[in-house]
Amino acid sequence: MKRNFHHYVDGCWVAPEAAKTLELLDPTTELLRCHVPLAGAKDVAKAVEAAHLALAQGWLETSVSERLSYLLRLIGKIKDRRDQFAHIISEEMGAPIDFCKAHQVEASLAHLQGFVAAMKVQGEIDTPIADDPMHRVRYEPIGVAALITPWNWPLNQIALKVGAALMAGCTMVLKPSELTPLTGRLFAQCMEATGLPPGVFNFLIGGAETGELLTAHEQVSAISFTGSTRAGQSVAAAASVGFRRLTLELGGKSPNLLFTDCDIATAVRQGVAHCFRNAGQSCNAASLMLVEDGIYDEVVTLAAEMADTYRLDAPHKPGPHMGPLINQAQFVRVQSSIEKAIEQGARCVAGGPGRPDGLNEGYFVRPTVLVDVTPDMDVAREEVFGPVLAIMPFQDLDDAVLKANHSAYGLAAYIQTSDVHMANKAARRINAGMIQVNGNSRALGAPFGGTKSSGLGREAGIWGIRAFQELKSISGLHSVETRKL
Ligand code: NAD
Repeated sequence: MKRNFHHYVDGCWVAPEAAKTLELLDPTTELLRCHVPLAGAKDVAKAVEAAHLALAQGWLETSVSERLSYLLRLIGKIKDRRDQFAHIISEEMGAPIDFCKAHQVEASLAHLQGFVAAMKVQGEIDTPIADDPMHRVRYEPIGVAALITPWNWPLNQIALKVGAALMAGCTMVLKPSELTPLTGRLFAQCMEATGLPPGVFNFLIGGAETGELLTAHEQVSAISFTGSTRAGQSVAAAASVGFRRLTLELGGKSPNLLFTDCDIATAVRQGVAHCFRNAGQSCNAASLMLVEDGIYDEVVTLAAEMADTYRLDAPHKPGPHMGPLINQAQFVRVQSSIEKAIEQGARCVAGGPGRPDGLNEGYFVRPTVLVDVTPDMDVAREEVFGPVLAIMPFQDLDDAVLKANHSAYGLAAYIQTSDVHMANKAARRINAGMIQVNGNSRALGAPFGGTKSSGLGREAGIWGIRAFQELKSISGLHSVETRKL
């Protein structure tokens, strides 16, 4: 495959003017894969200007049904390239090929379908106020949107932002993670193939500095950022200039509560699998298992046994194994989290520090279970972003809620119990954006996002689309036809 890193700006593929480059290594072999040029100020300015011009040249006036037809075309283009996406994602971030096919690609398609469904039900953009036909309330696109995404679910995060901004009627500049530029490029090729007018969608390859330039640009009216809480803070500061609309999807330390009356074997199997999914590199990973005293020892034994069944292997091989982490920085970070937890008194019952047996190269981490974790330990509060499960006992609901709410994050929480009243009480008291009871996944189009340091606002479904729109209140327009799908 030819490795060019052109940007897609104003409907054309253009060579970057970028001066800086980034070296990317293969996560499995640690060999050099490529040098990626990182977009600079001129590249950013051209992309934002193209998006700004496209708004004025008619995109602002498009109907919901026109925008929906582009979205449906996009879904078709991604489906046509399902395998290509899966191979590129696997190569770039190290997730095994079968996982990429079944989850990384399909999750993005599901989110795009969620936008289609949302617009079919709630697509009305011009509604009267119930008892005053002379007053209308209208959702309008905010303007130029800056979309910044991470590497861990690289296509999924892009789809969540681009699909929503497109349906909202914004024009946009997408800057995916510099660590997964080829996934971004293939997505941009799909956008090009939809036949969108020039400038509606623009694509830059760049890093943190590119992101800073983009979020600081005065013609950007909405910023949607997914990434670390650390970077989210500086994005929030940039958005405060001019009070631009801001959506932040940040890190997590999501608790998984196991009450004594749960189906223990299923809860442990699902809980460990959720934590280790994508080698633990998921923002909503159930990485803190809170276990009621009466079943603690049994859960610890089962969790350790399950972790020991995981196999590690190269991402290109078929099968349900776990791949490496994306890069050296992640590997070092996860190793040091495991070492620190043990130093602070956690007991390691599976995995542990160091490379897995027989794997002397690649950023592979041993699937690790740390038990007897206490709230004061870093591993109880901080996002590890690797296959590391922390287990902590609790006495009763009050104690469980206290421990679940202890970290600075509030992205997701998981509850396992056969008592629906207990599940409901816990769900009310846990401070998180998303709660899943007994392994039931979120519905298509349900809002995605968190509280506290996990972010601001929601993505997916109608909530994701509204994040790119402004409400306008207009009185005296009763003769204007309401525009529905
Ligand atoms: P990161 O913050 O390093 O980078 C994310 C993106 O932001 C990249 O495109 C990067 O180039 C850009 N960026 C970095 N600093 C920036 C700045 N100051 N201004 C503007 N842009 C900047 O995060 P990452 O390592 O790529 O991703 C992992 C993190 O993302 C984890 O913390 C994970 O929990 C989080 N995440 C959250 C969600 C969610 O929906 N809540 C989903 C996926 C990942």
